[in-house]
Amino acid sequence: MSEQNFDIVVLGGGSGGYAAALRASELGFTVGLIEKDKVGGTCLHRGCIPTKALLHAAEVADVSRDSAKYGINATFEGVDVAGVTTYREGIVAKKYKGLLGLVKARGITTIEGAGRLVSPTTVQVGEDMIVGKHVILATGSYSRSLPGLEIGGRVITSEQALELDFVPKKVVVLGGGVIGVEFASVWKSFGADVTIVEALPHLVPNEDESISKSLERAFRRRGIDFRLGVRFAGVTQNENGVIVSLENGDTIDAELLLVAVGRGPSTANLGYEEVGVTMDRGFVITNERLATSVPGVYAVGDIVPGLQLAHRGFQQGIFVAEEIAGLNPVVIADVNIPKVTYCDPEVASVGLSEANAVEQYGAESITTYDYSLAGNGKSEIIGTSGSVKVVRVNDGPVVGVHMIGARVGELIGEAQLIVNWEAYPEDIAPLIHAHPTQNESLGEAFLYLAGRPLHTL
Ligand SMILES: Cc1cc2nc3c(=O)[nH]c(=O)nc-3n(C[C@H](O)[C@H](O)[C@H](O)COP(=O)(O)OP(=O)(O)OC[C@H]3O[C@@H](n4cnc5c(N)ncnc54)[C@H](O)[C@@H]3O)c2cc1C
Repeated sequence: MSEQNFDIVVLGGGSGGYAAALRASELGFTVGLIEKDKVGGTCLHRGCIPTKALLHAAEVADVSRDSAKYGINATFEGVDVAGVTTYREGIVAKKYKGLLGLVKARGITTIEGAGRLVSPTTVQVGEDMIVGKHVILATGSYSRSLPGLEIGGRVITSEQALELDFVPKKVVVLGGGVIGVEFASVWKSFGADVTIVEALPHLVPNEDESISKSLERAFRRRGIDFRLGVRFAGVTQNENGVIVSLENGDTIDAELLLVAVGRGPSTANLGYEEVGVTMDRGFVITNERLATSVPGVYAVGDIVPGLQLAHRGFQQGIFVAEEIAGLNPVVIADVNIPKVTYCDPEVASVGLSEANAVEQYGAESITTYDYSLAGNGKSEIIGTSGSVKVVRVNDGPVVGVHMIGARVGELIGEAQLIVNWEAYPEDIAPLIHAHPTQNESLGEAFLYLAGRPLHTL
């Protein structure tokens, strides 16, 4: 048994954990980063990055199918799944190598193995005791299922979906949230028949309802089938496929069932409760400064209740390192974290939905404006439709921006600054948006709300 001592010990090397480690080392702390699998975690190896590579390949498939529309002669001959896999794995490998280099260059000690919290200052890895003046818990999340719905065979989660070496002919996707609609979109572009089953009344149910409805229209146009407001009842499988039954009595057969019903916190049997960390249904409870109930122990990322997003993990990791350093970092409320759903068309939002703004301020105190991308030159050129919806408080700031359309995820940067800086449309209207860009659609919406519309009435 040996003991290693650090200023800060981080348990879990995903987005939250490695960001904490990087920032802590930058601030002059010694850091031990414990990881049982690969530094980079879900996002780099099984989440954000590989799925976006798949979505890009899917876009290439769609563009090549539609090439005649642009006067280009090309034929879509099919999807070479092995080729897509090589491309996807190549991206992940390059980013992984870069990350390992960065972690090493910052002087962070990486400890390989599964850790368990055994005291407020100590994580045990095998026989070794890794001791820190502060401990940051960052053990991430796993794909959840429903009670009684066993994963295996033709019933898969996003982990197996990524690794498939064929394009399924027909798939049922259980769950119309971010992960479900991303895979539905990829598979449709690759040529599969897709049906999404969602128990709530809309796809991407956490978005503004008008955006959900637009996505439903766009998916309908793409031939993606969905069943909304209906619950899953059960599934049977044999060597040829699955039969999914719904509570309304319908059945759907397919080759595979993807279960995309959310992610649970990876906290079981890690010693958290034993050391006195307050938990709720597996999540680690923290105050708004990410301190747990045990002094000196913090938590970041998907194990903390709220949005499960990589950039929230990055921000929380940076936050905790700075908090420990006494820099008094600024708390960012979950509602002001930008969200992007990367299907085709993309959905991007930040701040309050119209319904939440009405609840918070009253209907008479807010104004919304929906700018259609039909009026935006660049969107026309790339062949996308959609809209930018802005919610403002009357004589007050912009409190929400909600967008749908190809590539709108790239516009969320400006939107999140506006909402977080509590800018008024009148502050933004005099500033210039480059032409022709999709970004102009935000400019047009703010011009309108400031009472000086340019290309709209
Ligand atoms: C298919 C998919 C697509 C996604 N796409 C996006 C996206 O586009 N944008 C976005 O923002 N988010 C996306 N996410 C979510 C994002 O991946 C997570 O929010 C993010 O990875 C959370 O970071 P984390 O550090 O909390 O946890 P994780 O990334 O899960 O990292 C936790 C790490 O801890 C390690 N660990 C766990 N237990 C132990 C232990 N006992 N000892 C040692 N190590 C341990 C694990 O091996 C893992 O490496 C996606 C997720 C999925 C599944």
